[in-house]
Amino acid sequence: MPNRAVHDFLTVASSVVITPVTYSILSSIPEASEWATIAAALVFVSHNVSGILFSPDLDMDTHIHKRWGIFYVLWVPYQMVIPHRHFWSHGLVLPPLLRLGYFFWMCLLVLYVVETIAAYFGLAVPNLQQSVTRLVLAFVGAHPVECVTIATGFVSGAAVHSIADWLVSGGAKLMRLVFVPPRRGTPKSATTPVSVSSRWLFDPFSSDSPRHV
Ligand SMILES: [Zn+2]
Repeated sequence: MPNRAVHDFLTVASSVVITPVTYSILSSIPEASEWATIAAALVFVSHNVSGILFSPDLDMDTHIHKRWGIFYVLWVPYQMVIPHRHFWSHGLVLPPLLRLGYFFWMCLLVLYVVETIAAYFGLAVPNLQQSVTRLVLAFVGAHPVECVTIATGFVSGAAVHSIADWLVSGGAKLMRLVFVPPRRGTPKSATTPVSVSSRWLFDPFSSDSPRHV
């Protein structure tokens, strides 16, 4: 699979393509043209945040964790629980939204711990987790279109990563098929690569995963 620098480049490069495409599609629709600029900006930001900060490689790459600074600890349980290089980290649509939800719940957990410690020392603190939850729910209720736009950018940012992993995994197999001649006496079935599986992109129960190259 591509290394971090390649993944980062692909994320930024694809956002440079996706953003104007989003703008031109929305600005051509009379009902949506008013907020085409805002939607394009939201897609640009969420696509890059998803690909670079909320990368599918948070399942095992500690260098991605370091991008979070001290907040890397938020991702330690995720790394321990999520199977590596599997649908739940590298699949399409659901996994990036799962990471967003996970991050939200971890923030609430941190607030809860801070409140509990403050209460232990007799400090009166407002119920921050409830306030934050109400604030987020109110924002989602008041701005559903913007939230769907952000979610779309989030999904596309992760999809570029996962599809690149799949293409490189498949590319390695095809390279072996084309350039590595079978040894004499080796059964054909032993040298013929299995077909390039993409099942792990869609199927949570698949045991397939992208190949490490
Ligand atoms: Zn990956």
